[in-house]
Amino acid sequence: MMIKFILLFAAASFYFFINTAIAFPEHHPVPGGTVVIELSSADTPQPRAFYKKQKVAVHKYDDAWYAMIGISLNTKPGRYEVNYQFDDKKQYHHSFVIKNKTYKAQYLTVKNKRKVNPTAEDMKRIVKERQIKKAAKNTWSDQTVHSDFIRPVDGRISSIFGLRRFFNQQARRPHSGLDIAAPQGTPVKAIADARVIETGDFFFSGNMIYLDHGQGVISLYAHLYKTHVKPGQLIKQGDIIGEVGETGRVTGPHLHLSLLLNRTAVDPDHWLPAVKAQ
Ligand SMILES: [Zn+2]
Repeated sequence: MMIKFILLFAAASFYFFINTAIAFPEHHPVPGGTVVIELSSADTPQPRAFYKKQKVAVHKYDDAWYAMIGISLNTKPGRYEVNYQFDDKKQYHHSFVIKNKTYKAQYLTVKNKRKVNPTAEDMKRIVKERQIKKAAKNTWSDQTVHSDFIRPVDGRISSIFGLRRFFNQQARRPHSGLDIAAPQGTPVKAIADARVIETGDFFFSGNMIYLDHGQGVISLYAHLYKTHVKPGQLIKQGDIIGEVGETGRVTGPHLHLSLLLNRTAVDPDHWLPAVKAQ
């Protein structure tokens, strides 16, 4: 059963949903969250929507079109806008408020010191890989997003999204995904239908796969032992795309899952069905 809440902010109204099997992301207007905002009724043409000049995912649900906007971790609390337009080019906008959220710190010890303090040679590789990652993140395809995601692996959540990270006592970028601990070789499933964007062996992420779910919604699977897919391949939700491993900068075998929207990493947990009671 779906519970629907209505919030009013000035002229803008928007809806969010809580559902036991999430067929739609939860509305979390915080840094690292996803904003779900109603744009227009479903009888209008599909609107094109933009946040900070980036195209955002638009999804039809029940009787309306919704924008699903990724809010970056470094966003300051305050009022923001989504702009949208139909075929007639007239611009419309809704505003929404981003609230504050404080993320905890996490201290990790990595045995391979080069993964924390790369050599000059490693840096050359890292710089090259940044370009590949950037290109993968910029992927946009127009197909409809099927947001009724499944969990890629069953297992204990070993690290949540957004933690402020310290590796061997040194501050590094916050955690951009969700870590699920599982033994090496555990099959990893695609969270939704997709096209494979990129696969490869990366310095920090180890063996990694990028999947395009449409409209800038991209999932990323890192530290894999093996990858079973190739760029360009079309896959179905639940297909085995790789195996859990401990490649790259890790403290043990786990899957790192990131979810990107409008080129921004958001908390995947707001999109995934709840973990079943053990
Ligand atoms: Zn991770």
